[in-house]
Amino acid sequence: MERVRWIFAGQLGEQFDDGGRMLLVEARSVLERAPIHRAKAHLILSAIRHRAAELGDRVEFHQVHRYRDAVAGRDDLEVIDPTSYRARALVREVGARILPSRGFVTSEADFAAWADGRGAKRLLLEDFYRAMRQRTGILMDGDAPAGGQWNYDHDNRQPPPKNAVTLGLPDPRWPEEDEIDAEVRADLDRWQAEGRVRLVGADGPRRFAVTAAEAKAVLADFVESRLGDFGPFEDATLTGDWTMAHSLLSAPLNLGLIDPVEVIDTVVAEYRAGRAPIASVEGVVRQIAGWRDWVWHLYWRLGENYTDSHNALGAHEPLPAALLELDPDRIEANCLSQSIRGVAEHGWAHHIQRLMIIGNHALQRGYEPRQLNDWFVSMFVDGTPWVMPANVIGMSQHADGGIVATKPYAAGGAYISKMTDYCGGCRFNPKVRLGPDACPFTAGYWAFLDRVEPVLRGNHRMAQPLAGLRRLADREAVVDQESRRDNL
Ligand code: SF4
Repeated sequence: MERVRWIFAGQLGEQFDDGGRMLLVEARSVLERAPIHRAKAHLILSAIRHRAAELGDRVEFHQVHRYRDAVAGRDDLEVIDPTSYRARALVREVGARILPSRGFVTSEADFAAWADGRGAKRLLLEDFYRAMRQRTGILMDGDAPAGGQWNYDHDNRQPPPKNAVTLGLPDPRWPEEDEIDAEVRADLDRWQAEGRVRLVGADGPRRFAVTAAEAKAVLADFVESRLGDFGPFEDATLTGDWTMAHSLLSAPLNLGLIDPVEVIDTVVAEYRAGRAPIASVEGVVRQIAGWRDWVWHLYWRLGENYTDSHNALGAHEPLPAALLELDPDRIEANCLSQSIRGVAEHGWAHHIQRLMIIGNHALQRGYEPRQLNDWFVSMFVDGTPWVMPANVIGMSQHADGGIVATKPYAAGGAYISKMTDYCGGCRFNPKVRLGPDACPFTAGYWAFLDRVEPVLRGNHRMAQPLAGLRRLADREAVVDQESRRDNL
């Protein structure tokens, strides 16, 4: 019996296509489960429909309400193991033949062998990253890392150039919308009017790739215009430059439109040809072959209940409407307002806006980690069920008590003031922790430490910040002020 390859929205590129017949299902129920960013809904539908058009006669394309409406009763399906617990349960229930997952640099079997071989030793990103590079030979000179160092973080933490409005790089070459995008937009309008979907944020013009060809063009543009500046300014933020030197590849990578190995081979070739600095190239390799693979494997390793079952810092506050509705005008803190504005406009923000501004704010205010995780999944164009838990529950909120990161990523306004230009346009002062000008991040940092001190007292990486808290002469007044703060 000829098998039909059932592909999902994370499997839309050539690396999931072995040339046979295909099945593609656009299941609207996926968009109906929770409020979702309009640009993200657009991107998923547009990518599925573009793939269906590309595959032509080779694909059965079903637009249905639920997956089951298209696959129930079939006994001819095979799938490359999909990327969520929910989808894996479905394909097994349907009885599809399962092939090993693809779309990452390392296989699940490779990771299991590495992790099991460590016995009781902690699983650390840096250990995985080095082992991965040694095993694959990526950016290696024999047994040594190319350039002589495993890590160029020191070179990659530059603040934005002084008084700059942008990094001064050419605008990214944006994809061009077509009739499929117009049709998607009309469908979303109709479904929203009918009350079937709850869409948040702006939709358009489309800024992220939805086909393999567009993803390749994004990669080429990144290499030509931004790769050299990616490393040094990886952590920097400017109000007038929402993309900075970032690649914009996370969404197409997570849609499966481009193979991460292709991205890595391309940037490493630039280094070997002397056209890109090692710090930038190693930064890309670390993000994609290191961190992206790492959180993928942790998603399976930490188990289905990881997101629901961890709340080590006892955070129970509900997310505020300004975040749920992506409304920057309800936020006074300029850094947070600008970051949420970016999410509202593009369904995307870069690493420091996610971790050190939005995540840091959520950590300080004690938002419920599960709700925050789901918000990141729904509001970001690259948000998937597998990518967010280790990032949000683990790294950003420290809700797992230290499985993913050894300490919480909490910081005051001084860090934001150094790495962004936001504070100049803010009514608060990052140096002030008490009074009407008190920066909610600076004061919030101390109030956060005060709240979590009993839980983190035994964490040696927190010894210094907690000693600082104990020395704070106005500790009580700051904590009292923050407990009464009614603005964001
Ligand atoms: Fe953010 Fe504080 Fe700076 Fe305002 S002063 S932008 S709230 S860090």
